[in-house]
Amino acid sequence: MAIPASSSYVVVGAGIHGLSTGFHLAKELEARGLGSGADIIVLDKSSPGSGASGIACGVVRNNYYQPAMSELMQACVEVWESDPVAYAFNSVGYVALGAQVQEADLIAVAERQERIGYRSEIIVGEAEVDAHMKGLFPDWRAQGVTVCLHERQGGFAFNMASVMGLVGKCEAEGVRILSGVEVTGLDLVADDTVRAVLTNRGRIEVGEQLVIAPGPWAKQFWGMLGLPMTIDIRTPSGDVVRDRPMWTYWNLQEGEISVDPLSFATADGGPPPVIHLDTDAPLYTDEGKLVTDELWGIYFKRDRHGVQGGASPLVVGDDIELDPYPATTNVDPGYPDMWCAALSHAMSRFEGCRAVYKNARSGGVGAFTADNFPVFDYMKPNVYTILDSNHGYKMIGVGREVAKVLLGDHSSLLYPFRFERFETGDLHPVSNSPYPWS
Ligand SMILES: Cc1cc2nc3c(=O)[nH]c(=O)nc-3n(C[C@H](O)[C@H](O)[C@H](O)COP(=O)(O)OP(=O)(O)OC[C@H]3O[C@@H](n4cnc5c(N)ncnc54)[C@H](O)[C@@H]3O)c2cc1C
Repeated sequence: MAIPASSSYVVVGAGIHGLSTGFHLAKELEARGLGSGADIIVLDKSSPGSGASGIACGVVRNNYYQPAMSELMQACVEVWESDPVAYAFNSVGYVALGAQVQEADLIAVAERQERIGYRSEIIVGEAEVDAHMKGLFPDWRAQGVTVCLHERQGGFAFNMASVMGLVGKCEAEGVRILSGVEVTGLDLVADDTVRAVLTNRGRIEVGEQLVIAPGPWAKQFWGMLGLPMTIDIRTPSGDVVRDRPMWTYWNLQEGEISVDPLSFATADGGPPPVIHLDTDAPLYTDEGKLVTDELWGIYFKRDRHGVQGGASPLVVGDDIELDPYPATTNVDPGYPDMWCAALSHAMSRFEGCRAVYKNARSGGVGAFTADNFPVFDYMKPNVYTILDSNHGYKMIGVGREVAKVLLGDHSSLLYPFRFERFETGDLHPVSNSPYPWS
């Protein structure tokens, strides 16, 4: 397909954010009588879903300690629930289980969820949590868990199916998605606006606005925009931490066991919620070898061909070769032992599951900001960036908010994620979770 010489709205990246923005912007333009999907192109150097969105575990949850994240996630779940078929969304709920150190955080999350009307319940006390979990899974046997947040909304979606659902919605609105078009530079002019994107297939003038939604390639675009690779961060106490790297890469470790998916069901035969288990109980393999006696955590869900999930990610540093994505993944060699031991620790049905661990590359690299939270902001007068710090498959509603902002509205949901927060110290609170994304 020939590439157009210009487009009113140019979106870079056909992942969850670029596609959601394309679709929702088309709807907004039409609703306001300002145009249609024909005014939008989405460019991808490869094809839709070839970045992080196509390999995401697909967990959709609200459990965030930070009020702004939780409120944004509620809006995102609303989008998932609006068309579960097209988005391949499984509304099975989500259960977060924690050790004593996480009690206060999860209780605070549950209280906020009650205030904002997100359906969930909180269970506190080791015996109470055990009874709740045994009600769901009679073979539940995890130790050291004293708090459980059971979200009745959320669940998970199938990654590529949801991307293709968005592709269909974009195309139905007349949005053109151009695969194999790599943005290699930006024509920045004197007033700091971007006049055109330079691609491997030629130059495309930007009529109105450019949206950059590049997933793990955030740092490359940060560079193209001439933005600083290190920043000073004002902390809430007023101290300034100098020269922090703006971008760091983490490797998300994930894996799968090949079992009959229906063997992972609730006591009444229903689909199981996504489980996220953190505990400080010592973890042993089924053969009795100690894996760790420190706080550990895993998450898992029923998948199409088995049970899939992950554990804590590993930092890989400030620089990494991302292409071909996600081939750079270096999973900890001990990961399969740990994840399978943890599954078995949780439920006796998973005893011996190490033997059916699927030996295929899984997981991938994500780009994280200096405070591990997204930057959703105009970084140039006509350039809006969606840089989600690897939180974002679940954030399908961000594109809906961005569409409104592009047309001049204020979004109170996106405002807390402006870049200026690093300078003003208006940072998000930090939880006691071992993960960079809670
Ligand atoms: C292993 C793994 C598991 C995850 N699990 C979850 C989860 O369970 N739940 C959750 O909410 N989040 C999860 N995430 C995070 C989530 O996947 C990402 O935050 C989200 O998918 C990012 O979406 P995106 O649209 O910004 O980027 P992407 O989906 O990465 O899309 C960016 C696109 O930009 C294109 N692109 C890059 N450079 C250029 C260029 N120069 N020119 C043109 N196109 C370009 C790429 O080809 C790509 O298709 C996970 C991430 C990983 C890596």
